[in-house]
Amino acid sequence: MISPIIDDKVIERLRALINGVQRIAITCHKSPDGDALGSTLALCRVLRRLGKDAVVVTPDMAPKSLEFVPGVREIVVLTKHEMRARHVFNDAQLIFCLDFNSLNRIDRLAELIEPLKAPRVLIDHHLNPDDSFDVSISFPELSSTCELVFRVLMQMGLLRFLDRQAASCLYVGMLTDTGGFAYSCDNPEFYEVMASIMRRRFDRITLYNKAMNTFSADSLRLQGYAINEKMQLFPEQGASLIVLDKSELERFNYNRGDTETLVNKPLAIPGIYWSVFLREDPDKIKVSCRSQGEFSVNDICSRYFNGGGHKNAAGGDFTGTIDEAVQVFHQVLADLFPATTEQQTQEQ
Ligand code: 5GP
Ligand code: MN
Repeated sequence: MISPIIDDKVIERLRALINGVQRIAITCHKSPDGDALGSTLALCRVLRRLGKDAVVVTPDMAPKSLEFVPGVREIVVLTKHEMRARHVFNDAQLIFCLDFNSLNRIDRLAELIEPLKAPRVLIDHHLNPDDSFDVSISFPELSSTCELVFRVLMQMGLLRFLDRQAASCLYVGMLTDTGGFAYSCDNPEFYEVMASIMRRRFDRITLYNKAMNTFSADSLRLQGYAINEKMQLFPEQGASLIVLDKSELERFNYNRGDTETLVNKPLAIPGIYWSVFLREDPDKIKVSCRSQGEFSVNDICSRYFNGGGHKNAAGGDFTGTIDEAVQVFHQVLADLFPATTEQQTQEQ
């Protein structure tokens, strides 16, 4: 049995909000991933089947690797369709904010949304949501925003509108946000939600292969290079660091999404339980962290890298040079493991 974890009053409030409006905008965090796209597109599909004019607007483009998610082509992308995006938001009577916990995660979309009167509904599973939302449905203990969207629909009695296409979208988010059912999926109810989604009979194997096991030749070569030549291990601290600078990315014709799962790879090594990946993007250093067990990379990303996320998967944007970001990583080592790190410095 899937427990009704969302307060009945919140569900009633949401029902009243949805019933009272026609035009609904749905958005998610910048650099949308499988969960951000899956949850927004599934909700959009269900709301449309309910007769609403629902539109998904994202702060920037989905990566090529996620173009297979049903409905991606209909998304209004702020960086591409600025006028259209403005029009959708100005016109919207209700705004859903999915898979992010603070308006600073949606880049320039925040400026568009902030002055608007339309109520904002948060549906999210990141830690520490801020108070920019009129209705806040936040469950950091859940696997994914997709799982939470399913639970919202279930408690609202709207599951009959969840068709095969919407189910495919939810599957993608539940799959990718758990690293292929590897972490954040210990709650048996996760599989009950999955069972219900599976009854919609979508092409699971094709979606799995596209989401988890499809890389361009350039991407595979870049990952091989990164692991072979750029992976530094710190066994005493259970850590791994991979750094890719601009020239290395250019050499492998880097496209967004090409390094999506790279940060997970070092965790395959026994004794390595946290992994950091630093990538020199045009406007910032993108930080990605993963961990196993109780070691919280969310704490590291929020304290040192202007970011956040979850205990075992977090990220951030670092302003500064790639060398400065590497220095910050060494500072993290020194702060968290003072004894071992000091000893190593003396031995060098
Ligand atoms: P990734 O490493 O795949 O980019 O992100 C892992 C997790 O950390 C995701 O849940 C993502 O939402 C979160 N995250 C990534 N980058 C940032 C960031 O710049 N700020 C915050 N607050 N969270 C981030
Ligand atoms: Mn998510």
